[in-house]
Amino acid sequence: MPLFAILTLFPEALEPYLGTSILGVAQEKGLAKILLVDFRDFTRDRHRTVDDRPYGGGPGMVLKPEPIVECIEWLERRHGRFHRLLMSPAGTPFRQARAEGLAREERILLLAGRYEGFDARIKSQLEFEEVSLGDFVLSGGELPALAVVEAVTRLVPGVLGDERSAAEDSFRADGGLDHPQYTRPRVWRGEAVPDVLLSGDHAAIRNWRAGAATELTSARRPDLLERAQTAAAATEKSTATAENGNESPAIDRGRAANGQHQNDVRPSSRTGEDEPDGSRETPCT
Ligand code: SAH
Repeated sequence: MPLFAILTLFPEALEPYLGTSILGVAQEKGLAKILLVDFRDFTRDRHRTVDDRPYGGGPGMVLKPEPIVECIEWLERRHGRFHRLLMSPAGTPFRQARAEGLAREERILLLAGRYEGFDARIKSQLEFEEVSLGDFVLSGGELPALAVVEAVTRLVPGVLGDERSAAEDSFRADGGLDHPQYTRPRVWRGEAVPDVLLSGDHAAIRNWRAGAATELTSARRPDLLERAQTAAAATEKSTATAENGNESPAIDRGRAANGQHQNDVRPSSRTGEDEPDGSRETPCT
């Protein structure tokens, strides 16, 4: 079961969404756990200050490093190391393939920014994968964090009612878009559902859907077809290399994983009595 921790200044804004529909049910069934953590709770001044003016001048405010880094260190002492994601327009655009990779992680932390973003030292102190939701600017990282949590959770076995749903969605294994869907009524405003879908001939239906999906993908997103072809060619090449015994992608992956799991929990300067009691972490169900 994946454990998510969303670090945000607005946990109350995320709570209702996380409790709704598939995400809510997934948590009730114990298939995912989502913690909301307000990093303002890790400030030490009277005014609970999380932001300050940018050095060098300019508009807006910048998120201070101390509360965020101390919040993450505290969480990792409680739960162990997280795979850390930082929401940023400068990150790698989020895609289905990455959601599939993240679905294999045990613990995922999502850091949502606000204002002008983060003091750069947060990223040099701790290792993050920077994730962008797309080429547009939002006022906060909350929506991107929700998008990532939802995309990953629906891939956890048991979360969707029918396991085939995820496998047949857009961006599935072959990278294309989903085929058009129809439901009742059979004829509506003079427009009938394609006959083949009523034929009961499963092979013909599969065939029609595959054709319609490819047609839609090449019309709307030819880049997806090209990407799928490039990926297929790369897989073929690496399999051939591995078979020749020159280089083993499996061994390389193993090494990368070991590197990543090296213990990086930093010694804490907090004293025992300073240790928070956990009330600042809201399990979201
Ligand atoms: N000054 C920054 C934008 C800050 S927006 C810049 O121009 O890059 C405030 C916060 O919203 C960011 O720290 C980030 O966490 C979040 N955010 C905004 N747009 C985003 C996007 N497209 N993807 C992911 N996070 C985004």
